[in-house]
Amino acid sequence: MQTMITRKALTIPPFIVMEVMERAGELEKEGRHIIHLEIGEPDFGTPSCICDAAREAMIRGQTHYTHSLGILPLREAICTHYQEKYGVHISPEQVIVTSGTSPALLLLFCALLDPGDEIILSDPHYPCYPNYATFLDARPVFVKGEEKEGFQLNPEEIKKKIGRRARAVLINSPGNPTGNLLSPERMEAIARLGLPVISDEIYHGLVYGQEEHTILEYTDNAFVLNGFSKLYAMTGWRLGYVIAPRSFVRPLQKLQQNFFISAGSISQWGGLAALTCAERDVMRMREIYDERRRYMIKRIRALGFGLPVEPVGAFYVFANAKEFGESSYGLAFEILEKAGVGVSPGIDFGKKAEGFLRFSYASSLDNIKTGLDRIEDFFSHR
Ligand code: PMP
Repeated sequence: MQTMITRKALTIPPFIVMEVMERAGELEKEGRHIIHLEIGEPDFGTPSCICDAAREAMIRGQTHYTHSLGILPLREAICTHYQEKYGVHISPEQVIVTSGTSPALLLLFCALLDPGDEIILSDPHYPCYPNYATFLDARPVFVKGEEKEGFQLNPEEIKKKIGRRARAVLINSPGNPTGNLLSPERMEAIARLGLPVISDEIYHGLVYGQEEHTILEYTDNAFVLNGFSKLYAMTGWRLGYVIAPRSFVRPLQKLQQNFFISAGSISQWGGLAALTCAERDVMRMREIYDERRRYMIKRIRALGFGLPVEPVGAFYVFANAKEFGESSYGLAFEILEKAGVGVSPGIDFGKKAEGFLRFSYASSLDNIKTGLDRIEDFFSHR
């Protein structure tokens, strides 16, 4: 009997940045030294107070399934965090803790999108958003960002795209891949459009010299996605959450029970410590990211890349590389093979992102210096 692979599994696009990383890994096996500026993963270790709390939880025997919504102290701490930081009131009953922001996104899309429904996304965008929607037989509808506006979503352009089947608009500020913030005025205008807003706030806390806002300051008709991977350097702990309007909690809970049962217990106790005792560690990491950010922006502009708007969040610089080649895929692999530096090709992030490269500063200043020196050298001989 022939075993068939499903159409969906065959057609879901790869995450191109992973392909850059995997090719970099092959080159490293051959003995090449590669500088990794492609990775969207903090290079810091998880703060020790978080690791201690997880160790203590393990020793206490908190190694079992938890409540499907997550442990109550963590859900309470998430509410306190949103209250103290943004002045918004949410109840622990609105919080569903998940095994990362990615599963949170999956649960939410499952609860919001029937086949044929539409979700409005920015272009450029985080690659997984449209892939999840398409996987559910829903349709991503793109609103193109303007480079000179830092690719911010434009509420007027969103309005033009709202059709009968539109179910939500997704925002991500600070954003991946651009590192830019959506202005409070635009967030408010997007909230006023009346469509539910999904706000991916995973890079909150990693903002330099400006202030980020949660969508909950502007509307209750919203879903917040957030997680511990970036701000607390906890990518491997797999911990995130959704904040949802009350009517959505039970459906999301049932999806969680069926798909995942609960998020990992030990990780949840670590997450509680992250919210209650890691502020100084976060400040230290943020200062270091900011120093790298300023250095990288200066160098990237000096190398001849276009960067009209200075990124102020996350840990990415999204630079216009059209001077150096039409295909960002070709250019990224050429830089990898010839200069020994991993960068992410824009095409991973949407059609509008073609011709751009994403540089991550989640790598040491020394690595960033060496990587950009190598690129400079490569361009001068090209
Ligand atoms: N959203 C955005 C914008 C991201 O960049 C990422 C990770 N690269 C995620 C969600 C998923 O993060 P995680 O599953 O590690 O919480």
